[in-house]
Amino acid sequence: MDSITRLIHHGYRAPADFDAPAVGVHKASTVFFPSVAALRSRDWKDKSAYTYGLHGTPTTFTLEERIATLEGGTHCVLAPSGLAAIALVDMALLRAGDELLIPHNAYGPNKSFASVELAGWGVRARYYDPMDPADLAARISDKTRLVWLEAAGSVTLEFPDLPALTALVRAANPGRARPIVSVLDNTWGAGVAFRGFDLGADVVLQALTKYPSGGADVLMGSVVTRDPALHRELLLTHMRLGLGVGANDAELVLRGLPSIALRYAAQDAAARELAGWMQSQAGVQRVLHPALPGSPGHETWQRDASGAASLFTVVFDDGLAPERVVAFCDALRLFRLGYSWAGPVSLCVPYERAEMCGRDWPHAHGPVRFAVGLEAVEDLRADLAQALRVLNA
Ligand SMILES: *Cc1c(COP(=O)(O)O)cnc(C)c1O
Repeated sequence: MDSITRLIHHGYRAPADFDAPAVGVHKASTVFFPSVAALRSRDWKDKSAYTYGLHGTPTTFTLEERIATLEGGTHCVLAPSGLAAIALVDMALLRAGDELLIPHNAYGPNKSFASVELAGWGVRARYYDPMDPADLAARISDKTRLVWLEAAGSVTLEFPDLPALTALVRAANPGRARPIVSVLDNTWGAGVAFRGFDLGADVVLQALTKYPSGGADVLMGSVVTRDPALHRELLLTHMRLGLGVGANDAELVLRGLPSIALRYAAQDAAARELAGWMQSQAGVQRVLHPALPGSPGHETWQRDASGAASLFTVVFDDGLAPERVVAFCDALRLFRLGYSWAGPVSLCVPYERAEMCGRDWPHAHGPVRFAVGLEAVEDLRADLAQALRVLNA
């Protein structure tokens, strides 16, 4: 046999007893079967065997198990981004004629997917005020099939009463042919600040892009359930859509997970310190962060959460010219302009007033959201202080 053939059909088999802290990076599209009988009998949905890379490898199965543990659930599917995980849930659970309910302060691309893609398939999105359970109750109809939840709300960081909202969904279910499913986007809580299932959610989703990875270098999403039937619906759609994640990306998230609680706590403490300090600075009208008294949902956050993501949002004085706010953001040096959060580098995003449509936004300027990274707090405070001098110049 030619050496190139022997190189490809090589006899070496790694011994089975290699044991080390890191999970192996198993890459595969093709997975071998030892016989026709094995090829015909293996079920891709059964995690005791492997069939094809898209349906899982030891690396992705390990990550799924660990994310399910983090969220307090039993089953997990992985998607190539947080947004892909959101779209997967919608596509798995909704059919033409259905309605879904989304909080008006939800992650923007979740709303866009619903109002454009889902609308085109005959699914109607309706928006509710997450801070008013009676508003959700009034909008649940015979056609409602899915209710999205987010705590805290994207950008404006209101903390809703999740137990009250999920109880309303459960109470509406008896007698329905297809029960309403409540889905929590738990990217903010990260499975660290609270457990979505304990607060009543049926499905808990996360952008692993944020805290679980922690590196600002990978995109991934997860969808966790405690209900095997619901998991099966999600898994079948996941397979039909061909959603897969790369082994190297899974490895990055596996590497981030052991330090998630430490990073969450450290970034939380730094963000609270800076949010409190910003409140008393000239030019600042208001700082939004659930741990600050007066921030919407502060009491509910105190009751239901043991920590907060490292985000705070600043509303600048109405009297400032819009160019001053832009100059402030451009003057920041350690806080970089960029989307996402939970990575090592602190970030700032100035949203425009027009982007707040669909929300009650009574302020002259759009909100400016800060995501605190892992730099020393004193350096970050000094950066904000020099930019505030530019704001007020
Ligand atoms: C970032 C984010 C997502 C989407 O995650 P990607 O991996 O960037 O697609 C979804 N929901 C929330 C709340 C997020 O912050």
